[in-house]
Amino acid sequence: SYRHPRHFHLICKSCNRSYEFLSSDIETLVEEVAAARGFTARQSVVQIYGTCEACRTGRAPAEEGSTSELLFARDALRIAIATERSGLEFYTRAARVTKDVRGRAIFHRLAEEEKHHLGTLEKRYQKLLEQDPQLESRPTFLFFKGAANGLFARGADELMAEGINDREAYKIGIRCERGSHRFFKRYGERFEDSEGKQVFLEFAEEEREHLEMLIREYRALLRRQAKRKPKAKSAAPARQLASR
Ligand SMILES: [Zn+2]
Ligand SMILES: [Zn+2]
Repeated sequence: SYRHPRHFHLICKSCNRSYEFLSSDIETLVEEVAAARGFTARQSVVQIYGTCEACRTGRAPAEEGSTSELLFARDALRIAIATERSGLEFYTRAARVTKDVRGRAIFHRLAEEEKHHLGTLEKRYQKLLEQDPQLESRPTFLFFKGAANGLFARGADELMAEGINDREAYKIGIRCERGSHRFFKRYGERFEDSEGKQVFLEFAEEEREHLEMLIREYRALLRRQAKRKPKAKSAAPARQLASR
């Protein structure tokens, strides 16, 4: 069987076949429970017993073993692609709502980068499909609920709120990039050598660069705004006088 830390099993009581899957949702829950009880978890086993689809329907069972790695790469790429898509949407919106000229240029640049990465990942995904014509229709292997819609999806929604200012746009971006970086690094490091692992680690690195850039730019924005403030203060009374 394909080796990677903490995978879980579906076990069929009729044919005794077992099917592997990964789930960050289960892992997170296990960690939360252990931490809440002051417990250092060394190993956790999740086994779901029942009747498999093949036995239930009489259809041929999905191949195991050699395709696990392909399934893993497929699902890792899907998550990365969803994240790029949501990232592209996020930065496109951020560029639209930002008033600061430099900020707008930065968000445009990040949107361009995400678009470029998206193209690369989609090509890679197509290449992967060539290795197995049925790959797209095979069952899900990696269950990552929070990441399935892309890690920037919530941030992109938050940008649509009334009266979002430039600082807030940066802060949301920083939060998304940090979450994305952590997610891909954390899971990338856990996997055995495979294309899925590669995808995750490369992605973690890209997100780290984006994160650092956003933090730098956020600080630069604060400095620019601080410099502008004295002028704004003296301008306000003048305007009030003028309107009277
Ligand atoms: Zn079965
Ligand atoms: Zn990014």
